[in-house]
Amino acid sequence: MKLVIGNLKMNLNQKEIEEYIAFFKNKKYSHAFFAPTYIYLKEFVDNGLNTVSQDISPYSKGAYTGDVSANQLKSMGINYSIVGHSERRKNYADGMLVNEKLKRLLENDINPILCIGEAFEERNNNTYLNVIKEEIDEAFKNIDTNKLKCVIIAYEPIWSISTSGTGIVPTNEQISEISSFIKDYVQDKYSYTPKVLYGGSVNNINVDTLEEIGNIDGYLVGGCSLKIKEFNELIEKVK
Ligand code: PEP
Repeated sequence: MKLVIGNLKMNLNQKEIEEYIAFFKNKKYSHAFFAPTYIYLKEFVDNGLNTVSQDISPYSKGAYTGDVSANQLKSMGINYSIVGHSERRKNYADGMLVNEKLKRLLENDINPILCIGEAFEERNNNTYLNVIKEEIDEAFKNIDTNKLKCVIIAYEPIWSISTSGTGIVPTNEQISEISSFIKDYVQDKYSYTPKVLYGGSVNNINVDTLEEIGNIDGYLVGGCSLKIKEFNELIEKVK
């Protein structure tokens, strides 16, 4: 089963979220997941939706004002969290924290959705495979390989993200190349074959083309996940 994960980012107010939940709770999609801001997580969980955190603290507990711990998320029924999203890497220098965050998630039996992906110039100067390797190695550093098996990898080329990049979607061949590369690299070095999601300007229209890619395991969706009808159509098209 492929996964579709909607990353709502810092969008939708209380009234809009209620409308959103009211629509999706009746659909009972087992393959659709929702990542709202922290303040709405409980409403998603209580309404039976597959709920994903957008991030997590690198610390376990204590005096870290504004942070939310993996243990707190787990205790409210959250089993998935995004980690290393390019917006966090860029805006908060999160690249250095990804390894610690991954450890906190794994300690608490939360499945990480690790975001990796190259910038436009790294694609153009042909260093993108190295960037992918380095991001995986940095994230997986000093973690027992037996614990890594639940880590899902989201390949999100920074240049294809709708709001911070060019919004250009890579070709199916480009996505397929990276997905195979990630699966082989992680299998060789860390002894498991991860699920690989594609993220970057996916919508209810271009998903028809993306669905022809044979070796991806789903999508991480930003902008389109904010529009109820469009996101619902996208979810229904993913098999
Ligand atoms: C994202 O930021 O994770 C993302 C995939 O965004 P968008 O779909 O808007 O490009």
